[in-house]
Amino acid sequence: MESDLYLRLKETDHKYLWHPFTQMQEWLEEDPLIISRSEGNYLVDTQGKRYLDGVSSLWCNLHGHVQPDISEAISRQLEKVAHSTLLGLSNIPSIQLAEKLVKITPKGLTRVFYSDAGATAVEVSLKMAFQYWQLKGNVNKIKFASLANSYHGDTLGAINVGYSKLFHHYYRPLLQDSLRLTPPHVFRFYKGMSHKESITAAGKEARNIIAANHREIAALIVEPLIQGAAGMWTHSIEYLSILRDLCRQHNILLICDEVATGFGRTGTMFACEQANIQPDLLCLAKGLTGGYLPLAATLTTEKIFSAFLAPYDEFKTFFHGHTFTGNPLGCAAALASLQIFQEQDVLARLKPILKRLKDRLDSDLSQLNHVADIRRQGFMVGLELMLDPEKKIPYAATQKIGVKVILEARKRGVILRPLGDVITLMPPLSINANELDILLNVTRDSIEAVTCQAS
Ligand code: PMP
Repeated sequence: MESDLYLRLKETDHKYLWHPFTQMQEWLEEDPLIISRSEGNYLVDTQGKRYLDGVSSLWCNLHGHVQPDISEAISRQLEKVAHSTLLGLSNIPSIQLAEKLVKITPKGLTRVFYSDAGATAVEVSLKMAFQYWQLKGNVNKIKFASLANSYHGDTLGAINVGYSKLFHHYYRPLLQDSLRLTPPHVFRFYKGMSHKESITAAGKEARNIIAANHREIAALIVEPLIQGAAGMWTHSIEYLSILRDLCRQHNILLICDEVATGFGRTGTMFACEQANIQPDLLCLAKGLTGGYLPLAATLTTEKIFSAFLAPYDEFKTFFHGHTFTGNPLGCAAALASLQIFQEQDVLARLKPILKRLKDRLDSDLSQLNHVADIRRQGFMVGLELMLDPEKKIPYAATQKIGVKVILEARKRGVILRPLGDVITLMPPLSINANELDILLNVTRDSIEAVTCQAS
């Protein structure tokens, strides 16, 4: 039975809202799932039905919802000041958080520039890299390189490096040509090469493109170890190290976009730690506040920072800033989240859960007839569904297999989100073994239920 409240909310939603990444024509014909509250790793709808949050509320929740320490830190900060600007002023939590971020991120990153979303963290990194070379007199470095199908956010600068045909083709005339490197996934999955061969082929291509264009390339931006929105395309530590070396050899800045991978998602605090690499710029958002409030940060080195130092009237300033930059509430939430990592030894606690996830994917979900590929880095998982996995024949887009699977999972009390026909799992780090089993059982049963009907 739909309550009066639900019906009123549905009508108002349909009348006034425009949802992101949503075909609104379809939305207006559907009954929306409306979340009203949360409990730990569960979201609860207006009818009181509980759903396990299998994608961490768009890849950002870390320690569960209404986590008492984070809620309390925000409340305490709320009694002091909710917002004051970092333009010409400073505030206590933003100073404390900057120091903490420098301590926990890879060596060499010493400066923190705040913004408020993953895309803005990326814009900041691109503009910093670009202006750095201009200030250094290297004025021909006006291009960026990135991995094919990478995703760095939806603002114009970010789509310029993260271009996806489906999402961005309307904006093509507004974009410059960035250089695209084909990542190992394409060679392995689409061209049938072995894991080793795919790294060799991707490494060779990267070497050639960079050697031919390095004079023009300001920076290479990568999502280290896993390209999330591409469909969880993974690459190895080895490939990431090749890119780091190429950048160093050819005087190109390396930007690591850890908006999705940061804060434990790949099993280590940051993905680039696993390859033991130090980027020149690092983008953080999503999990920075434990997934509670919009806050982002771009970290860089003293070398880049100092290139912007000059007397005022030389106008070398980094002319960039957003209204809510360094928001005290967001910074207080982030400090509380980092404290949880420390006090609860979150990364160590994750190890057995990660092993369970790996074992269940290997032994159980990989057996499903239409699962063509399972890709994983830590807690980031993509299950690619195909009509014929052996011949690599995809489902027709009109079949909307991915959407059907997540709707099936929703009936069974789990929230998932597809990327085309890739079913993504990215649970909060606080998920326990029992909840993980629920997530995997429901995912398996939903895939089975939908794929056995579709042909
Ligand atoms: N970079 C990466 C790697 C991402 O996965 C995302 C979001 N999924 C972004 C940037 C953009 O973040 P936001 O949506 O907060 O702008």
